[in-house]
Amino acid sequence: QNTINKIAAGEVVERPSSVVKELVENSIDAGASAITIEIKEGGISFIRITDNGKGISKEDIQTAFIRHSTSKIKSIEDLITVSSLGFRGEALASIAAVSQVEVITKTYDDITGIRYVIEGGREVSKEEIGCPEGTTIIIKNLFYNTPARRKFLKKPATEGAYISEFINKLALGNIGISFKFIYNNTIKLHTSGNNVLKDCIFNIYGKEIVKNSVPIEINNDQFKINGFIGKPKISRAIRNYENYYINGRYIKSKIIMKAIEEGYKTKLTVHRFPFTAFYITINPELIDVNVHPTKMEVRFNNESIIYEAIKSGIYEALRKVDL
Ligand code: ADP
Ligand code: MG
Repeated sequence: QNTINKIAAGEVVERPSSVVKELVENSIDAGASAITIEIKEGGISFIRITDNGKGISKEDIQTAFIRHSTSKIKSIEDLITVSSLGFRGEALASIAAVSQVEVITKTYDDITGIRYVIEGGREVSKEEIGCPEGTTIIIKNLFYNTPARRKFLKKPATEGAYISEFINKLALGNIGISFKFIYNNTIKLHTSGNNVLKDCIFNIYGKEIVKNSVPIEINNDQFKINGFIGKPKISRAIRNYENYYINGRYIKSKIIMKAIEEGYKTKLTVHRFPFTAFYITINPELIDVNVHPTKMEVRFNNESIIYEAIKSGIYEALRKVDL
């Protein structure tokens, strides 16, 4: 069982940011309204995620770390329609196989909580403790028992940057949740979770981006897009400022990326990438989701309609302002 977990862990757990992704998605699935992510050494030596979600009961804590045990959905087909992010039931098992894990958790109904320690897939201890409602999970020394995999990690600063970037995307995609990110004892991000998009953009990107952004709204009989578009803070050509979500999920789409850049380029002489926070609502039957443990690619049935709508929508939005 342990060997199987270690091999399979390669798919879900590639680097510290994939650990953070899985754990934060679990917190979101647990209904948390506040999530704190703390990392040290780029997440390689230390990751701590604290949420105020529904917690894990004493009866369920051990099974939560068994592969293919999920309390969520059973079918991958309705992935995009289902609201929960996790669905494979292998994240905790995979993470625990290659690190030292400590969980402190309590449900609303239980009087006492539980502290559960599991290292390299082996249970170390399980005890009752007093703790607040919700879950704290600490991951120490990722890949400590798989040195070959550990060697493939990049420098802590690079791994930390991946995590930071991922949390930004997630915070922007969940504006009703307050995210706090602490990196080497410094608070790097704290969103209010007040459900106001502009406030969230401000929390993540700062005053300048908010000031230089305009709302965008595209309505169509096939889909709806709302959000903001604006000029990036810096002139360097990086795509980190492009964010788009389909039915609430952060996804990758070449066609959207191209439409955003083409729509924006009409305004520019220099080649830069705009800031975008786009929220696309579309009938799930009109899209095709390619699910991979570490990424999510979406293809549209009618690519050209999406492409043209975004491109001209951006052009229209920017025509009235000077950005
Ligand atoms: P999945 O998310 O695909 O179900 P995971 O391995 O990520 O699988 O988690 C296993 C189970 O552990 C979840 O189905 C859930 O019941 C429980 N769980 C994990 N993290 C949390 C959390 N932060 N709060 C409450 N329950 C959790
Ligand atoms: Mg999960």
